[in-house]
Amino acid sequence: MATVAFIGLGNMGLPMAQNILKAGHRVIGFDIGAANMDAARAAGLKTAAGAGDAAAAADAIVTMLPAGQHVRQVYLGDGGLVARARPGTLMIDSSTIDVEAARAVIASAEAVGHAMLDAPVSGGTGGAAAGTLTFMVGGAEQAFERARPLLECMGKTIVHAGGPGTGQAAKICNNMILGISMIAVSEAFALADKLGLDRQRLFDISSKSSGQCWSLTSYCPVPGPVPTSPANRDYQAGFTAEMMLKDLKLAQQAAQAVGASTPLGAEAAQLYQLFVGSGQGKLDFSGIIQMLKGH
Ligand code: NAD
Repeated sequence: MATVAFIGLGNMGLPMAQNILKAGHRVIGFDIGAANMDAARAAGLKTAAGAGDAAAAADAIVTMLPAGQHVRQVYLGDGGLVARARPGTLMIDSSTIDVEAARAVIASAEAVGHAMLDAPVSGGTGGAAAGTLTFMVGGAEQAFERARPLLECMGKTIVHAGGPGTGQAAKICNNMILGISMIAVSEAFALADKLGLDRQRLFDISSKSSGQCWSLTSYCPVPGPVPTSPANRDYQAGFTAEMMLKDLKLAQQAAQAVGASTPLGAEAAQLYQLFVGSGQGKLDFSGIIQMLKGH
């Protein structure tokens, strides 16, 4: 049994922490939100007065925070995790953040003798609760092997992507494919409608043809062809448009930093910005078809 500090007990963090607890470890949680701390205690977690206090008693630390600025502050701020943890502590940041921040925080942690990984996830709150998340992990091989048993408490697929920051790189590249492909599939269904082509027929043909992709076959943005897709429940999320926009912006930030040309990624970010700006940010990201249809 290890003692694990878990910082950031929100929609994803709390169920992930609960799965570590269920696997037989001791979990000490911290979140700045009082309601999140109450929920954590109700779920059987121990809590600490601050992130540093939780870290000081831990063999390993997992963080699940909103964005890069929170991760920098929690790890590197006054009395933060890097300063308060015992030497050699294993640190795993599972937040989705910019590659640059991930690399900077890992370098600072390693400089004082900790082992640290960036390990963003896909699978959403359903995957977090079920313990079936996919972890995309960046960092040293030795740290990855040390982290694997802990990650297996929370996820089903654990992939080592490469050196520091490559977990975040994998996450934003994957979600850039997803954002672009969802727009492509949505445009095709909108055009088919206007051309008098039945949506089920388009699905039957394209799902067996070269247009086949996950946005079409698993997450079809029109009701009917894929009964489990959010289109069948008024685009209730799922994966919100707001979150898709966050990841597309991170991809653009990374592309600019390294001079990569991503014109469709840029266009997808702009379209999701428009959709979220029109007040639809909490809808599932596949709801963008409504905007593309002019609704
Ligand atoms: P959330 O807002 O529900 O949880 C984040 C938590 O961090 C909040 O409870 C907040 O109070 C806490 N927090 C913020 N600053 C803190 C600090 N200084 N110290 C301690 N706690 C602090 O968000 P979430 O949905 O759980 O997402 C967390 C991360 O996971 C994000 O980076 C998100 O992009 C990523 N992610 C989310 C999903 C999803 O479906 N929700 C899927 C994949 C990845």
